[in-house]
Amino acid sequence: MNAHAPLPTSDCNVEIRQERGQRAVFCGLTGIVWLHRKIQDAFFLVVGSRTCAHLIQSAAGVMIFAEPRFATAIIDERDLAGIADANEELDRVVTRLIERRPDIRLLFLVGSCPSEVIKLDLSRAALRLSQRLSPEVRVLNYSGSGIETTFTQGEDACLASLVPGLPSDPTDAPTSLLVVGALSDVVEDQFARLFTAMGIADVRFLPARKAGQMPAVGRGTRYLLAQPFLADTARALEERGARRLPAPFPLGSEGTTGWLQAAADAFGVETERFEAAIAPGRARAATALAPYRERLSGKRVFFFPDSQLEVPLARFLARETGAVLVEVGTPYLHRGHLAEEIELLPRGTLVNEGQDLDAQMDRCRAARPDLTVCGLGLANPLEAEGLTTKWSIELLFTPIQGYDQAGDLAELFARPLLRRRLLEV
Ligand code: SF4
Repeated sequence: MNAHAPLPTSDCNVEIRQERGQRAVFCGLTGIVWLHRKIQDAFFLVVGSRTCAHLIQSAAGVMIFAEPRFATAIIDERDLAGIADANEELDRVVTRLIERRPDIRLLFLVGSCPSEVIKLDLSRAALRLSQRLSPEVRVLNYSGSGIETTFTQGEDACLASLVPGLPSDPTDAPTSLLVVGALSDVVEDQFARLFTAMGIADVRFLPARKAGQMPAVGRGTRYLLAQPFLADTARALEERGARRLPAPFPLGSEGTTGWLQAAADAFGVETERFEAAIAPGRARAATALAPYRERLSGKRVFFFPDSQLEVPLARFLARETGAVLVEVGTPYLHRGHLAEEIELLPRGTLVNEGQDLDAQMDRCRAARPDLTVCGLGLANPLEAEGLTTKWSIELLFTPIQGYDQAGDLAELFARPLLRRRLLEV
């Protein structure tokens, strides 16, 4: 197949292409950096190599913890006969960890890609350890391996591993709303207040802040994805009977309104009540965004594929700040979950799924965009060539969802442009 073949795009107004080749994306271990802050009594034990330990330490190195909630059990090279020892070693490490940290209620064994780890059956290890440590500690496993996951897919794998163990909600009528995807606590609290103001009483969040408070799920559950990279989690929730509410993602004022509107429609919230609930937030977002229209309008933006947040971010930049989209790269495009977003993209937008790194670098150099959104590995070489970059990983660490963060989100894109201008002056 042609490495850069246009795909049929039905009747939508964007051009969707697929590309295959060398990629430059973090592996799924990176998700631990924000997930360990979210579930306060969980611990993430990476079963991996020294490389994995370095990645986690340097990705999380920006934060100092007296008692971090992640670590790496380093499995050195060994032959098949050494696998039994590796299992014993893992059990020893876990036992020591739990003795030292009695506050841990949920332990994730996170798989990685060294061959010694692939030979280990972590799901059996999780089962074995869970039986030994329950009821105080539950042990789950998922893969953050660079072979199976990119960057944000680590969160998807983590949340999907939680779903089979969620309590059952026997109610058949659609009564509960589940918000799915790790949001910072401040954003979660704002959304909870908005849903209360709309009159939706039973709102739950996945993941919960505590292992013992994970939400119940069943046929009466209607869920909103708060993040666009949760394909496996969504599938697991559907298997438990939950139904997704199609919506854009809550980035920027327009996305937030569309996202809340989907819940309002599903739960029969009256128009007046909905409008009254969102009016103050929407007004604050409009005020906060106004100065950024001036700074970002007409700026040409190029997205390299990284976090899967690219399409909603591009929609926000184009529609709420007037930026021009040169190319919107995304590692994976879930056409179902992103249908509402794709529809909102400006006519003629080029969405590029997957990556052929050299070809994409060439296109970026030729286009000379005003701003390039990319991973850490690409930012330095592009800056050296005089291009202005934004690290996409910051968009995962920073609270950006909801009305009250719309201005902060625009600022994240405006700041590198200002920095470049000051350097030039
Ligand atoms: Fe570890 Fe594989 Fe990620 Fe490298 S790509 S840090 S070896 S899981």
